[in-house]
Amino acid sequence: MSFVENNLANFCFLIKAEAVKRFSSDAGQIIENLVFQNERARETLRDSAPVHDWLAVAVEGFGRKNLNPAKNLFAVGDAGAFIDPFTGSGMLMALESAEILARIIGESSAAEQIAERYAVEHAQKFQRRLFVCSILRRAAFSPMFAGLFINALSFGRLPRKMLAQATRPTFSG
Ligand SMILES: Cc1cc2nc3c(=O)[nH]c(=O)nc-3n(C[C@H](O)[C@H](O)[C@H](O)COP(=O)(O)OP(=O)(O)OC[C@H]3O[C@@H](n4cnc5c(N)ncnc54)[C@H](O)[C@@H]3O)c2cc1C
Repeated sequence: MSFVENNLANFCFLIKAEAVKRFSSDAGQIIENLVFQNERARETLRDSAPVHDWLAVAVEGFGRKNLNPAKNLFAVGDAGAFIDPFTGSGMLMALESAEILARIIGESSAAEQIAERYAVEHAQKFQRRLFVCSILRRAAFSPMFAGLFINALSFGRLPRKMLAQATRPTFSG
């Protein structure tokens, strides 16, 4: 949950498609019956009310995808690799990957060479952070690991800074 302006907040969560179907795609029911099973969420959202309609987007999968699905067709942003939303860095990756591809296209003209260089530079830039996220995602579904991890992050600024740097290396603060 992130506050935006005028005491409004943007609240976002991920949910499996089967659960959405189980509650007939009714966001109110999903919040009440599923999200509020989390005590912290219930406490935080107790006095809140939706201001706009809920927006939903389908996430087909995480991690790197086919960067060059057809000759002269190159994927940037989410189409090239989807990073877990908890990092809050999908837009950064969309801009960074587009920047890499644009530079390579400016320097090379052969489609094969562009594809090869783009694959290498994309991996150099994003592989590590996608890997760290894949570990965190798996840990999040194991209550023991999730608990340990949350405790570790509450030890001070350093662990949180290290996590931010591992998932968005351009972060310096
Ligand atoms: C729940 C959730 C929370 C997130 N939170 C954050 C966050 O806090 N911070 C952050 O940085 N990122 C966040 N992200 C990720 C971020 O939204 C994406 O990484 C970013 O929008 C990717 O940009 P993009 O241009 O690659 O794709 P998109 O923003 O998805 O743009 C693709 C566009 O192409 C259009 N399109 C698709 N197919 C066609 C077609 N055939 N013809 C024409 N148009 C088409 C789509 O309608 C869309 O407008 C979140 C994502 C999710 C799912």
